Amino acid sequence: MSRIVKNKELVNTRLATNYGGWMYCEKCGENIGYLCYSTYDKIELDYKCNCGNHGSVLLDFEDSKVGKSSTSELVMVKTRFCCPKDNEPLITILDKKVTNYDLKITCKSCESIYQKSK
Ligand SMILES: [Zn+2]
Ligand SMILES: [Zn+2]
Repeated sequence: MSRIVKNKELVNTRLATNYGGWMYCEKCGENIGYLCYSTYDKIELDYKCNCGNHGSVLLDFEDSKVGKSSTSELVMVKTRFCCPKDNEPLITILDKKVTNYDLKITCKSCESIYQKSK
């Protein structure tokens, strides 16, 4: 079932499909991560690519819930950050490709908002 995007702001960043898949730095073309299509309600990502480009991603949906902040840490399974409550896979950020980032992501299933920075 496809979802209706409400807010979508991509700065210097390309997304493989409408609201998920591989994320690419628009300046050097490198992939910097992978956003899972169906498990998040909202994402806010700011990053600096190794090439020096500063990029960001903001996405949410018509049916997104407000969510509630969680102090728990995302769990890393292989390269993917997953929700610690229900193990939903949310996002991969390729650590070696970015010098720093700030991530805020809401799990659709439990409505928890997680933050992660490098
Ligand atoms: Zn780049
Ligand atoms: Zn969850």
